[in-house]
Amino acid sequence: MSSDFYDFADQLTRLNQQGLYRRRRVTDGPQGILVRVDGKQVINFCSNDYLGLANHPEVAAGFKQAVDRYGVGSGSAHLICGHGSAHHALEEELAEFTGRDRALLFSTGYMANLGVISALVGRNDRVFEDRLNHASLLDGGLLSRARFMRFRHLDGKELQAHLLAHPERTLIVSDGVFSMDGDLADLPVLAALAQQHQAGLLIDDAHGFGVLGRNGGGIVEHFGLAPGDVPILMGTFGKAFGTFGAFVAGSDDLIEILIQKARSYVFTTALPAAIAEATRVSLRLMQTETWRRDKLRFLVARFRAGALQQGLQLMDSFTAIQPVLVGDSQLAVSISQSLLRQGFWVSAIRPPTVPAGTARLRVTFSAEHETQHVDALLDALCKVMT
Ligand SMILES: *Cc1c(COP(=O)(O)O)cnc(C)c1O
Repeated sequence: MSSDFYDFADQLTRLNQQGLYRRRRVTDGPQGILVRVDGKQVINFCSNDYLGLANHPEVAAGFKQAVDRYGVGSGSAHLICGHGSAHHALEEELAEFTGRDRALLFSTGYMANLGVISALVGRNDRVFEDRLNHASLLDGGLLSRARFMRFRHLDGKELQAHLLAHPERTLIVSDGVFSMDGDLADLPVLAALAQQHQAGLLIDDAHGFGVLGRNGGGIVEHFGLAPGDVPILMGTFGKAFGTFGAFVAGSDDLIEILIQKARSYVFTTALPAAIAEATRVSLRLMQTETWRRDKLRFLVARFRAGALQQGLQLMDSFTAIQPVLVGDSQLAVSISQSLLRQGFWVSAIRPPTVPAGTARLRVTFSAEHETQHVDALLDALCKVMT
């Protein structure tokens, strides 16, 4: 007997019972520290707009001026007629910013990761990924059809054992800053292992660019590594850049191969030129308005000190991502709902985004937060969690 294909109601009921049901909330107005959600103003602690550039007047002005000049749609893929002077200029500036030969724009970070991994490895190769890598990196590994192995989070020893046991052509893949934990990859170890074993190394620094390093150069700058230590570097514009899209930076040959072979590059419409222009402004502000990184560091340190005093379970993170561990999915959801009623928007992160039993509140900070926002959140957390 065949089961009913359309038994969606049963599936939804099960998700709800497991505390895994996901719901969207409708915001109104621009991204910022104060947002309107379902008609009520709350303080936002769940955005990835770490530097507060998503509604920066200069970024917005860059976007509007570019619409006047280039219109809205890009018309086609980059390889047809969609690759404009704005895209090209952004690529050149990103290459310079990251100290690499070239950079290549992708329409989203998710697509960049799918495209890069599946372009660079195939059936007879291997992909080794940190267990906590972003879904797009894991999906890229699966899509590539390479032999896919995950190593324990940050466990260079296990990675080394895999590399020794499997001398085939291999790509090592890791988040720079882990998106749900806020901790960093051990980049010097990954770079050394990749070099010793002649493996490729792809680092996704979606949450590091703009946040880490004196100039916002991300995890590579943070560790003081050379461009050659991380030959394939990926970043996104939807987080600290405050815009939309993504890029991969590396050698001339790497970029040429991606242009030929990355299907999520070849077979998709180019970003609107206005997004590229707005991102150029963000890239400049990221480097000139260094106070944004200093302020973020200050706010994070204040939050951690207060949270530890209250006995909250934090993670090993000094980045803008400051998860508070809860464990149970239902409990994480109910705490998040209670915080929202008090005017604090903090998202509950549950499996399958994080491993079973590690549901958490993912608190994120922005350079636009003020000390009193942090203190008010700490008070509210104290009330609901202790
Ligand atoms: C957000 C994110 C992506 C996806 O980027 P989008 O541009 O939002 O598709 C990829 N990797 C990591 C680590 C991310 O946090």
